[in-house]
Amino acid sequence: MTALDLSAHTPMMAQYLGIKAEFPDTLVFYRMGDFYELFFADAEKAAGLLDITLTRRGQSAGQPVLMAGVPFHSVETYLARLIKLGESVAICEQVGDVATSKGPVERKVVRVVTPGTLTDTELLSDKSEAILLAVHQAAKNRCGLAWLSVTQGVVHLAECAQDELADWVDRIAPSELLASAGMTPTFEQKLRSLKTTGRGSWALALRPDFQFDAGLGQRKLLEQLQAASLAAWSADALADAHAAAAALLTYAEHTQGRSLPHVQRVQVQRSDALIDLPASTRRNLELTQTLRGESAADSPTLFALLDSCMTGMGSRLLKSWLLSPPRDRQAAIARLQAQAVLRGESGAGPWSSLREQLKGASDVERITARTALRQVRPRELVALRHALVRAASLSSQLQALQPEPGTLLAGMARWLTPPTHCAELLQMALLEEPAALVRDGGVIADGLDAELDELRGIQTNCDAFLLDLETREKERTGIANLRVQFNKVHGFYIEVTQGQLDKVPDDYRRRQTLKNAERFITPELKTFEDKALSAQERALAREKWLYEGLLDQLQPYVPALTALAQAMASLDVLCALTERSLTLNWCAPEFTKEPCIEIRQGRHPVVEARLAEMSGASFIANDTVLGTRQRLQIITGPNMGGKSTYMRQVALIVLLASIGSHVPASRCRLGPIDAIHTRIGAADDLANAQSTFMLEMTEAAQILHSATPHSLVLMDEIGRGTSTFDGLALASGIATHLHNKTQAFALFATHYFELTEFPATHTAAVNMHVSAAESGASIVFLHELQPGPASKSYGVQVARLAGMPAAVLNHARHALSALEAGATESRQQVDLFAAPPEAEAAGPSPVEAALAQINPDALSPREALDALYALQRLL
Ligand code: ADP
Repeated sequence: MTALDLSAHTPMMAQYLGIKAEFPDTLVFYRMGDFYELFFADAEKAAGLLDITLTRRGQSAGQPVLMAGVPFHSVETYLARLIKLGESVAICEQVGDVATSKGPVERKVVRVVTPGTLTDTELLSDKSEAILLAVHQAAKNRCGLAWLSVTQGVVHLAECAQDELADWVDRIAPSELLASAGMTPTFEQKLRSLKTTGRGSWALALRPDFQFDAGLGQRKLLEQLQAASLAAWSADALADAHAAAAALLTYAEHTQGRSLPHVQRVQVQRSDALIDLPASTRRNLELTQTLRGESAADSPTLFALLDSCMTGMGSRLLKSWLLSPPRDRQAAIARLQAQAVLRGESGAGPWSSLREQLKGASDVERITARTALRQVRPRELVALRHALVRAASLSSQLQALQPEPGTLLAGMARWLTPPTHCAELLQMALLEEPAALVRDGGVIADGLDAELDELRGIQTNCDAFLLDLETREKERTGIANLRVQFNKVHGFYIEVTQGQLDKVPDDYRRRQTLKNAERFITPELKTFEDKALSAQERALAREKWLYEGLLDQLQPYVPALTALAQAMASLDVLCALTERSLTLNWCAPEFTKEPCIEIRQGRHPVVEARLAEMSGASFIANDTVLGTRQRLQIITGPNMGGKSTYMRQVALIVLLASIGSHVPASRCRLGPIDAIHTRIGAADDLANAQSTFMLEMTEAAQILHSATPHSLVLMDEIGRGTSTFDGLALASGIATHLHNKTQAFALFATHYFELTEFPATHTAAVNMHVSAAESGASIVFLHELQPGPASKSYGVQVARLAGMPAAVLNHARHALSALEAGATESRQQVDLFAAPPEAEAAGPSPVEAALAQINPDALSPREALDALYALQRLL
């Protein structure tokens, strides 16, 4: 690297360029008085992105200086917009003393705001995390992953094959992804392609290759955990993930401008520990986002329906439960047990009073992280104190339930007990309603510090002194309307109106002339002014210093506060799930060892809620019975009959049960589940530029490769994307594979009536259909799932409901009769599911034919060898 020659620039530009050189890929917000200014290319870029004015500020080194700025008091709005666009911003503050500086005041980048490392409450969404993910390209087509949310205290580690990377990235849903500048072009291309095809959008930040170092990562992790070995976290033999962790932590520290003392936990995630929910499943089941991409609190997603949490911490935890259901049932069972206690007899348990306490509790998790990062604001600390009072009350309410030791509730009761003296410390240190920012003063409580009290005393005594002085001066001068006053610009003064000026004594010095009055200062007033102003300045400095001291004193509480926040979030989620189960009339699932999915009176929770809301209509409940003997349902019936709804409802119930929620059914028994796969047509992936059919086949192939007898597979209208015969042939091939090889639990909705013959020859398959009734020329959907194949497709009737012109319908009816008549006359009995003919039917191969000609007994050894060579040539 060549040294930067800044000698030709003005001193300020030289300072700016020196700083900018350290942050070449980041917009630098350079503080100048009440503005943050951007220069040169940064200014041009920001002007375009933020729609702010681009100006010129003289010249430096013969070049015009392009400049754009934003006012410091509204910087958050601009930051939010830039971050949303995937930009990063380095905040460069004035750290030197303006009064004593020669040349430009000293400036320093105090933090870097990037999409994946946000900590500002204003920039973060309440209900989702900003996640930073580092991906390390390792040998043998492997990857190491490490990720964290800076406002949480956990580093997650995982390792996977490069093929699986897309799914991991999609599930982690980072806001920012770090990768090595030294990765191979193929890998880089792969990463970048994930960016366009995956869910959400993340910013890619390239980091120097040496930062992806396994040894460094391990050391850094040990430092965070303050431990001597990673074995206790089963995180010791993960060199690839350690390499990612090195880059992750280095970057996170770099952006915060300090270490992350609150990050004290490591969690290793193994893909076989979670129920596999591929991206297509999360999308098709509309877990957190509808197929149209809506994710607002009132959009029809499972998360929106489920999330009645009282705090943002709860909502965030619920979302992470929903997207990473464990295969092991222990967690679900523990959560259901806790809910049973919270529910109490017939729903009269303590859940609702606990929710009252949780309502409006502040975000202890984020406040704690901001405390650890020393970014916390005074009002957040006051909110923390209030939250601690609530936590104490929550804890004693839980203790009163006498939860059994070792249960979730017992753990929460313990963790919710606020650390001793923490609330008192905050109470003692801070005013009840402090100013928003420490730099404005008015933050530290009276009585904490004698010196501060004294300095404040001078200011308070000010009014009394001025009144006293006014009275004395009136007497001394005989000017009855003389006033002693203060303003920010001119300081203290004695005001005398024009008519009284002749009475002004000699020791009055003129300060300012107004239209009708003159303002003066006296030596006594000047002395007082100096004292008062310096008292104010000193009080401010003292408050800042005391606040820093308070932050020091709070550091030891960080681990306990982090645990308290987690307990509060879990309690919030469990209470919310309890509330939902009671309000929506859901039942507790049972888990079995034997593979089965048995649901009585199952409902689709989101469709049910929508129906009730829009039309007051009730949802028709349906049963599902799948076990080892009956694994595959061929589902037929008219469009709009409820096939997709039924299939999705089964998947949603399985997922809800797996996270330990109650389920929309009257009974549910569930065996082990390792994955939920879905192949559902509607969402054509336009961005993907793949043809619908290609996409359909790719997804189906992936499912057939990865599903196991413990997986749930939903196939909706497979084969629709190609010609009838092709489609039917492929659908039957896929059904056969699912039935014979994969042996997964499969729900197979289809238009092809021919497929209803499948169960006749496949013992674990069964026909089901959604019922409909004809009423005259129209059709009524009953949405009831019944055994056996559908009798008619009702396509024409559905088209009529959709408002198709009568002429078209007439034409279609005629054509249909003709087709049906034709089909019965010349119907060829094609057995779709018969095994393909054996290879021998094709006749003997040339080698076989030649071999048949040979009589081994009649051959000499020499002839036998020749014959062997001849045969080989035929291959
Ligand atoms: P299909 O997949 O058979 O074309 P859908 O599953 O998309 O049909 O269902 C169409 C509509 O019918 C749904 O949007 C919903 O409003 C309604 N519906 C489906 N199932 C039920 C049910 N069990 N009870 C009440 N209404 C239902």
